[in-house]
Amino acid sequence: MRAVVMREQGAPSVLKIEDMPLPVIKPHEVLIKVGATGVSYHDVVERNGAYQRGVHFPMVLGPEIAGTVEQVGDQVRELKPGDRVCCKPFHSCGVCRRCRNGMETACKSRKGTRGGYAEYAAVAEEATVRIPDSLHFHVACWLAGTAGVALNAIRDVARVRLGEHVLVTGASGGLGLPSIEIACAAGAIVIAITRSEAKRAEIEKIGASHVVVAPDGHDFSKDVLALTGGDGAEVVVDNVGSRVFTPSFRSLAVGGRYALVGQLFREEISINPARIFFKRAQILGVGSVRRDQLEDAIKLVVAGKIHPKVAQVFPLEKAAEAHALVESGSVLGRVVLEP
Ligand SMILES: [Zn+2]
Repeated sequence: MRAVVMREQGAPSVLKIEDMPLPVIKPHEVLIKVGATGVSYHDVVERNGAYQRGVHFPMVLGPEIAGTVEQVGDQVRELKPGDRVCCKPFHSCGVCRRCRNGMETACKSRKGTRGGYAEYAAVAEEATVRIPDSLHFHVACWLAGTAGVALNAIRDVARVRLGEHVLVTGASGGLGLPSIEIACAAGAIVIAITRSEAKRAEIEKIGASHVVVAPDGHDFSKDVLALTGGDGAEVVVDNVGSRVFTPSFRSLAVGGRYALVGQLFREEISINPARIFFKRAQILGVGSVRRDQLEDAIKLVVAGKIHPKVAQVFPLEKAAEAHALVESGSVLGRVVLEP
């Protein structure tokens, strides 16, 4: 089969197409004929060297996989050849204490999904979710790490309620856009923070009530307080992390919930702990996506409540070009590879 193989970290040109043997599946795995694979910024940092964890050589990148089941291992219980599936970014054991308490995302035996930059990929059955025929592989492949995580943040961690103000940082990104749509579907009034004036129209189109364009270092909390009658937002969904933490925390209402989803830069933050209790704030960590959350995100897409946008589709041979585009940050929506 053809695969994009990485033998060292570096510029996009380290991604080279090679002929490889078909992956041999383990008893709990399925062999997926890849229909499409998303190219996320996480793939970019695994390739350019900013991220080291779990990187080995030779490596086939790509946790964002959708396709058709071709073969199943002896212990596979639900799936059969011909089923259409998409994947979670990891698989969990299903039996440890964390898995049994709704925290499969923090399973002690958690293993990352990889191998989507190829014609075929071996994936644990536990990491897959069936998708309906109406859902295109171009969209399904990247729902877990975007709409799925956003649903986890808004519905299950921050528990957004009708009529609340929800501040979304990194609004035009892969997590930001579905966060806005899911918060709107939950009846919230969304205030979106973005660095780019050019993305304002798109963010308003999907339902944000207010868009604040804030370059790096800009204290947007004054804007947020003005938009909320001085009270601040009951919920912050922070997809950016350190660089916007201070203005985001200032924007949080008394008694508010601060859901931390993303940390894009390797920086520390500093806060006087008294500010947390003076504000009666809850700081909440959002981690990845459970199977049931991914299933529900798929339902919302099929029902037309979330509108994932595919920016561009590249063949496997152009993986380097796709990476350069994603790394440039100029694209709105997901870049997708199609073997
Ligand atoms: Zn487990």
